[in-house]
Amino acid sequence: AQKNKGLVDHPGVPEKWTVGNEDCGGKSQSPVNIVTRKAVREERLTPLEFKNYQHTFKTVMTNTGHSVQVNIPIISAISGGDLSTTYKAVQLHMHWGKDGGPGSEHTIDGEQYPMELHIVHMKNKYADLATALRDPEGVAVLGFFYEVLFLNPYLYVASKSRNVSFSLPSISLAQLIPPERKLTSYYRYQGSLTTPPCSESVVWTVFETPIPLSMDQMKAFSMVQFHDSKSMVNNFRPVQPLNGRLVYHSGGAALLVSSALLAAALTTALGLSQPN
Ligand SMILES: [Zn+2]
Repeated sequence: AQKNKGLVDHPGVPEKWTVGNEDCGGKSQSPVNIVTRKAVREERLTPLEFKNYQHTFKTVMTNTGHSVQVNIPIISAISGGDLSTTYKAVQLHMHWGKDGGPGSEHTIDGEQYPMELHIVHMKNKYADLATALRDPEGVAVLGFFYEVLFLNPYLYVASKSRNVSFSLPSISLAQLIPPERKLTSYYRYQGSLTTPPCSESVVWTVFETPIPLSMDQMKAFSMVQFHDSKSMVNNFRPVQPLNGRLVYHSGGAALLVSSALLAAALTTALGLSQPN
């Protein structure tokens, strides 16, 4: 009964999670700060294969009391990129700050983005997340940063109150993330869930290319509430020590390409050219 005490009593107070959640005090916790010059180039980190990420589905977005979560029907999956097997997508959720301020969980060279999307996958052979969490590589989470740039047609914000769900229009996972050609550059390390029970069973993939959204969309997340009616802001866990773990980088030439696209997008956003 005490298992999820931290989550129930202190959704926004990570320092108190270790009470009743021993794993939260472990040596391989997430998130972490990624120091780019220390990341180890690893040739085996080839582009991930996204299966059925284009498949559209109808679902609901739910305020879980510590985030907004979208359960995903078991259709989409990932493999490749040195993952040991195929992992199927089960849910996604976000972490954010306050009114567009710092809010991501992972940081890059100490920089915190305004928001971070987590698409949670588990090994194909498992029927439920609880079982997958007992396998040290049972879960694979894809992490994406958001940057405030322009209106994102595929971003929706859940209803304010806890346990209240609302229906989403038909969406696909591919609509929520950057195009595949921009996902060849990513970081990989072994870590944990960033909320209780903090199980150390997560293969993390954190992508370099951020997802654009507008400041209004970013601020809308600050209107979501915790179950005590306080605004659900800053629902990210602070970075945890690496304790000797290595962070690997896929290499790849995505950086130059994405910079060019970013400049093009900014030009469009500023009205300097006609959007297509
Ligand atoms: Zn998360």
